[in-house]
Amino acid sequence: MLDPDEWKARVIAEGVTCCPACESTEVTLGATAIGVMTIHQEYVCEHCLHTFSGLFALVTWYTT
Ligand SMILES: [Zn+2]
Repeated sequence: MLDPDEWKARVIAEGVTCCPACESTEVTLGATAIGVMTIHQEYVCEHCLHTFSGLFALVTWYTT
């Protein structure tokens, strides 16, 4: 099991979301909860069925 810091480093280094339990990249997006400064994204691992959430933080704004 990757701990949260190990998981974040792995995802940033490889540019792909993986399961912290089995390290499979076969993860499916679930529900998203959007707040003022955070987004919580749920994931389900299709390999081992582990469920987990990613926590994302507000970075900046830009013109679209
Ligand atoms: Zn898994």
